Amino acid sequence: MKLIIASNNAHKIGEIKKILSGKFEEILSLRESGIDHETVEDGKTFMENAVKKAREIAEISGCAALADDSGICAHALDGAPGIYSARFAGEHGNDGANNALLLEKLADKKDRTAHYTAAIALIFPDGREILSEGYMYGEIISEYRGTGGFGYDPLFVPDGESRTVAEMTAEEKNAISHRANALKGLLEKLENA
Ligand code: IMP
Repeated sequence: MKLIIASNNAHKIGEIKKILSGKFEEILSLRESGIDHETVEDGKTFMENAVKKAREIAEISGCAALADDSGICAHALDGAPGIYSARFAGEHGNDGANNALLLEKLADKKDRTAHYTAAIALIFPDGREILSEGYMYGEIISEYRGTGGFGYDPLFVPDGESRTVAEMTAEEKNAISHRANALKGLLEKLENA
């Protein structure tokens, strides 16, 4: 079966392709499948946004579509930036500005705990849906460390680790990440469907 990943985020696509390799005949990004489409992410939850993105691409393409909506939730900030993680500082996908704003908002907070959430929706052309959510818990430190990963990874140290996610290899991140956990759950549901 051919699967289209409803995203243009190269980092996310790379992580998803690595984890799902061998599970589908062909896995294509939006760009690789020649689809130029931007979903308006106006859901109130990660899952609402993931379902909306996947459904639109399944309808446009006639193929199975998988979407990930993800972000980081700082506990001292009542879960912010949450679903606004990609555009926390205003401009979509400006990791530097988003990280700087997160550090600024946490500057006077004692509680630095946070978690990443990934909501994954797999929608088939006949409308069938498989949904899964995954998490990674940890702490937001106050200096940048590492050059791997993307987004908030240079600031995030997972529970039980001393390194930030940006200091890990792609394989190490894929063994514990919110996205990997969500995809693992998704594959289990797919096998039992
Ligand atoms: P989305 O593309 O609307 O789902 O937004 C995802 C945003 O959440 C990204 O732009 C990052 O800021 C953040 N994010 C999600 N997953 C990760 C991750 O694995 N590492 C670092 N940041 C992430």
